[in-house]
Amino acid sequence: MDNCLFCKIAAKQIPAAVVYEDEELLAFKDINPAAPVHLLIIPKQHIATLSDCDGSHVAILGKMLALAPRLAEEHGISVVYDAAGAPTRGYKTLINSGPDGGQVVYHMHMHMYGGPRPWRGMH
Ligand code: 5GP
Ligand code: ZN
Repeated sequence: MDNCLFCKIAAKQIPAAVVYEDEELLAFKDINPAAPVHLLIIPKQHIATLSDCDGSHVAILGKMLALAPRLAEEHGISVVYDAAGAPTRGYKTLINSGPDGGQVVYHMHMHMYGGPRPWRGMH
């Protein structure tokens, strides 16, 4: 897509703090972080919203979701269990879809928020 911000980031026409890349996915730091760790995971392929996805997108959606725990590990926000077996740390994954969903950039992306709370407003 010619005028899509995240397509331009995927094509390296606009710089971003990239934390992961493979043939199909890119992950980078959000430019305006709402939490100590705030990453965005995108498909390199332009998909405007989650509502544009169907069964043919199961693999790419699965890859996006499966990347989250790996990035969590690398950024120190994985869920770890304390001596009593209680979960600690952790993160939020979020896909905003459409105006009522709070989507601003129309290239589908999954937010990943983590780090010690409180966090600034969640969108
Ligand atoms: P949305 O509301 O569409 O789900 O979230 C879009 C996100 O993209 C926002 O959190 C915003 O801070 C982030 N963002 C907008 N423009 C840029 C940019 O040029 N670079 C990066 N790294 N993040 C951006
Ligand atoms: Zn795009």
